Amino acid sequence: MADNRDRPLILISNDDGIEAAGILSLAAALDSIGDIVIAAPLQEMSAVGHAITMRDPVRARPWPFRGPSGQLTAYAVSGTPADCVKLALDKLVPRRPDLVVSGINHGPNTAVNVIYSGTVSAATEAAILGIPSIAFSYCKWGSGDFEASGRVARQVVEQVLDNEWPAGILLNVNIPDIPFDQIKGVMITRQAQARWEEQFAERLDPFDRPYYWLSGTFVNLDSGTNTDLWAVDNGWVSVTPVHHDLTAYRAMEALQQWNWNDKA
Ligand code: MN
Repeated sequence: MADNRDRPLILISNDDGIEAAGILSLAAALDSIGDIVIAAPLQEMSAVGHAITMRDPVRARPWPFRGPSGQLTAYAVSGTPADCVKLALDKLVPRRPDLVVSGINHGPNTAVNVIYSGTVSAATEAAILGIPSIAFSYCKWGSGDFEASGRVARQVVEQVLDNEWPAGILLNVNIPDIPFDQIKGVMITRQAQARWEEQFAERLDPFDRPYYWLSGTFVNLDSGTNTDLWAVDNGWVSVTPVHHDLTAYRAMEALQQWNWNDKA
């Protein structure tokens, strides 16, 4: 991708919505690297996964969005993160982007959360279409100081633009919640084995009907020292290559031994 280094086109999306602090910091961090187009959900869409809108129209409204260089081209989209990237690539960008970035998410997207994440799904949509893409997440929920994660995002993007991209993947980047000068560096990781142990809070509505609200505890089941969770817990930026091919290749051979076609 080095050929495009002078002015790459970078499409930015997220799942926290176009007014989130994280997308502003990402746009600010990348503004001087390339030409920016932003297409982000009008409303927060965290944890929608790879949902797309099929039964309703999707609208894109030009949005006032100021970066360090001035007004950036931005659209608020009435859809999901995957909708934003699909629509932007088809209708909103002036040419095929060199890179699609998503985030910076408010909260980690490590381990199994990759499945639930709208942030990662925006990047996945680009990867499906063969465009290099990066999902950025800052490992602190709610509001936070995006200064360090913005600097990390810029360094990661510069690294991507300087190197040959492995086709078909996205990079899932998780940034620890520590000051920039305390970050130890970048670690290439795998997703940790972990899961949510769900507990639905049960309450009563004003009509005495029960309702349930998802909560839960995230449990790390993985003792490895090369996982995304280990990296961010130990002061490293975690970079996990992710592919959308969900085939369980390890199971194919065992399944082929079954008597699938034995009609006798
Ligand atoms: Mn989010």
